[in-house]
Amino acid sequence: VPVIWWVRRDLRLGDNAALAGAIASGRPVVPLFIHDETVEALGAAAKWRLGEGVACLGQALSARGSRLILRRGPALDVLRGVIAGTGAAAVVWSRAYDPASVARDKAVKAALAEDGVEARSCAGHLLFEPWTVETGQGGFYKVYTPYWKAVRDRAVPEPAPAPGMIPRPDTWPASDEIGTWRMGAALRRGAAVLARFAPVGEAAAQERLDEFAARKIADYAERRAWPAADATSGLSAHLTCGEISARACWHAGLNAMDAGKAGAETFLKELVWREFAWHLMWHSPHIAERNWREGWDGFAWSTEGDSPEATAWKRGRTGIPFVDAAMREMYVTGTMHNRARMIAASWLTKNLMIHWRVGLDWFAEHLIDWDPASNAMGWQWVAGSGPDAAPYFRIFNPITQAEKFDPDGAYRDAWIAEGRQSPDPRALAYFEAVPRAWGLLPGDAYPAPAVTPEAGRRRALAAYEARGG
Ligand code: FAD
Repeated sequence: VPVIWWVRRDLRLGDNAALAGAIASGRPVVPLFIHDETVEALGAAAKWRLGEGVACLGQALSARGSRLILRRGPALDVLRGVIAGTGAAAVVWSRAYDPASVARDKAVKAALAEDGVEARSCAGHLLFEPWTVETGQGGFYKVYTPYWKAVRDRAVPEPAPAPGMIPRPDTWPASDEIGTWRMGAALRRGAAVLARFAPVGEAAAQERLDEFAARKIADYAERRAWPAADATSGLSAHLTCGEISARACWHAGLNAMDAGKAGAETFLKELVWREFAWHLMWHSPHIAERNWREGWDGFAWSTEGDSPEATAWKRGRTGIPFVDAAMREMYVTGTMHNRARMIAASWLTKNLMIHWRVGLDWFAEHLIDWDPASNAMGWQWVAGSGPDAAPYFRIFNPITQAEKFDPDGAYRDAWIAEGRQSPDPRALAYFEAVPRAWGLLPGDAYPAPAVTPEAGRRRALAAYEARGG
């Protein structure tokens, strides 16, 4: 009688409590990935990236004498079908924390219990389950620093090694071919450009972590804010897909700290920002939908996503090089440097006075590391409407930010081709990545900004004062 390992955002064999639990039951294991409505709802880049990750996990399972069964449909229907076909008596999975997955999982658990099938969820996506971190008053944390202080000394279990063999059933249930799902179909010009820049899978994730811990973590605190420095881990898409566990990253950070590497604690703090984002989403799921602070509901943001200003921002044609470089980096690689995310978001929500939801949706469509909690927290932090947000009146000036964090223009030059004799290959890749319908060419003139940083800043501050500060 097999047990089903329902694979979700845990595309890894190592440090996977759900898989380990399935194996420990002593029964044959049927790994199953379900293309359900939560997959359907993903943005184009995230969906493509998930598909690549699923295919890679399928290969890793095959190498261990197992398989990844692929099915499409509502999760409960698919599970019931596979249970009926295999006689499985139990389903295990790694927990998810976004509102849609939570609702689905609750319903699945209740229905399977009625069917007499054991359903068990395990921790695995986070270091700390969101409900286990409480303030002295018994509420949840709304400010990062006390959250960090509450968790930093907690014991985090060591990551568990990958299992050797995975016991297989006598016969396998039918499986879709991943190609028929066309996970990259919504990418407007196909996946060729993204695939050049996006490593996929558990082995690639581990390699990145090892390389980061060996070569970059010592200088991380000093260099992480420089977008051209290649000084961060680049693990976000792997973490989002669960190709590496947060615990493995945490212990790599702790080991580096023990070895006296100066930047290691800053890395741990960044991992905890991810935890904090999920803590906020768990306790206040509306963070992805509307202003976390209702006082912002009447603010004079434009909600028009296809105004000329919004369109120019989306296309990396604002005329502000730091902002445009950021938007193009995302188009080509599916990720964006953290400082660039802040500058691009600030330009949209403050200088252009466009609602953060316009930006949040655009990022959700184009990031391969799209994480609903970090994206929502990031946008509301920059916009000023979130918990623990930057004060609205603190408006990034992308010119002085560039002078400080991109003093030699390396980031700008990596991503902007217009006006250059021999543009960087990445800057040219942008023109391959964007839809032909935009009609953009590397030889186009670089646009002048619709609003200068000073004028945009004055307008934003006037709106802020009109709101009553
Ligand atoms: P590193 O600097 O190496 O950090 C290690 C890990 O810590 C990251 O992989 C990530 O998991 C976590 N982390 C680091 N910074 C943050 C942060 N500020 N908030 C939450 N977690 C963090 N991150 C996403 O993973 N997905 C998103 O959709 C996302 N959207 C964002 C939107 C905005 C407007 C902003 C300002 C930030 C957003 N971030 C998002 C956070 C951050 O920019 C990325 O996690 C980071 O740039 C990823 O690069 P890295 O893996 O090299 O990070």
